[in-house]
Amino acid sequence: MTSETTTPALLREAALVGGRWHASGADGIAVHNPASGVLIGRVPNLGAAEVAEAITRATEVQKDWAARGARARAAVLKAWHAEVIAHRDELAAILTAEQGKPLAEAAGEIDYGASYIEWYAEEARRVGGEMLAPLEPGKRMMTLKQPVGVVAAITPWNFPCAMVTRKLAPALASGCAVLLKPASQTPFTAIALALLAERAGLPPGLLSVLTGPAREIGGALTAAPEIRKLSFTGSTEVGRALYAQSAPGIKKLSLELGGNAPVIVFDDCDLDAAVEGTMQAKFRNGGQTCVCANRIFVQSGIYDAFRDRLTARVKVLKLGDGAEPGTEIGPMIDMAAVRKVLEHVDDAVSLGARLDTGGRRASELGAHFVTPALLSGVTPEMAVFREETFGPVAPLLRFDSFAEAMRLANDTPFGLASYVFSRDMARILGAMEALEFGMVGVNTGLISAAEAPFGGVKMSGLGREGGREGIEDYLETKYVCLGGLEAAPC
Ligand code: ADP
Repeated sequence: MTSETTTPALLREAALVGGRWHASGADGIAVHNPASGVLIGRVPNLGAAEVAEAITRATEVQKDWAARGARARAAVLKAWHAEVIAHRDELAAILTAEQGKPLAEAAGEIDYGASYIEWYAEEARRVGGEMLAPLEPGKRMMTLKQPVGVVAAITPWNFPCAMVTRKLAPALASGCAVLLKPASQTPFTAIALALLAERAGLPPGLLSVLTGPAREIGGALTAAPEIRKLSFTGSTEVGRALYAQSAPGIKKLSLELGGNAPVIVFDDCDLDAAVEGTMQAKFRNGGQTCVCANRIFVQSGIYDAFRDRLTARVKVLKLGDGAEPGTEIGPMIDMAAVRKVLEHVDDAVSLGARLDTGGRRASELGAHFVTPALLSGVTPEMAVFREETFGPVAPLLRFDSFAEAMRLANDTPFGLASYVFSRDMARILGAMEALEFGMVGVNTGLISAAEAPFGGVKMSGLGREGGREGIEDYLETKYVCLGGLEAAPC
């Protein structure tokens, strides 16, 4: 926060370790506002010792939490949800300060993040096993669902609230304890959420928020035999390393990794709706989401009209500090992100693409600002096609046939989100089935919801978050065979 603004009461320069708050000293990790570069505050530089302390305490309290029963756990989650909603504006201000997205988007993320807490408060009471069909007289088989135990969560900077609640809510609802390592760029939203959970009555020690060097904390979490599951959202590179680190202990894993989302615009679409949907799928959070449109395929008959309309929309996007009213695109998170965006634009142009607008640094606004860009005439050799740009660049490719669109869209090792714009039911159904992606948006650019399973196929990850599926990842199925029973007449 700058000195002119009021520091929100929820902005706490401390981590939560096994029920105790550790204040940061001057040697803590500095967190800067990506728009202004101003120091927001510091968080403690914790290490393996604090991870061990948090694990010990979590192990002590987890069984009691699980034994309370679903109704009691749901009540605490509902109280937490109410606290988050009551503090929406304050949380959004912290989120925008540390992450950069426009304030309205930040407030939307708080609501969206809170919706996971509400959904899993409700789902907690619907967890149940099965009584199976009798195998033979005198024998019955059944399944029980039990929490996996103490779990670890490692979250990224692009959704400092929603990525945290999407993991914590199902974990706590199912009866697990959680050790959370938030992204070093955006720890304050996670810390504020933990503070609100404490106020809502979450038992001390059940949730820890561990700030510090990612490698050391990640190493300690994956090495600990008490941690039975790891849920990670972030880059494919780190996900792969954590997968390997989790192998010796055979930990359960949920991985939500990179995407390379295609948008496929067929020439029978509603053009206005397709342009709006593409804007949402591409430019939300400045293009810094794993479900952001990364390749926009447009059918020949509509290509020029679509490009012109999209270019006109991109040109008027308001770039600026997310805290300023009217801002639609905030800063990139850091210099590495800025460099990647500029490299992708330069690479595309050098290989023959046309830069219709944007793609330049806006240094007058600050170090991390890049003007929203549209590239046309993109081809599969270009880095914008092959890699996730994670920035405000819309690359357009032309296609002719349905089969060509499906082949190009699937030409990636990733498979998270995909989008289709068409009014032809046969095309829509064909695309729904042919796209090798975990999620398909049809005639919409916004698909995420607490009620729906979010996740990818291929190198985009393992498991699902949200929906009925999202709690399953925190539950074990225990099978029980009962013998020696009365062979009851039925
Ligand atoms: P991003 O590109 O979103 O920053 P990362 O995969 O680098 O993706 O970061 C996602 C999360 O993983 C962050 O919380 C980060 O601190 C953490 N992280 C990064 N490197 C490691 C590592 N070696 N072990 C454990 N966690 C890590």
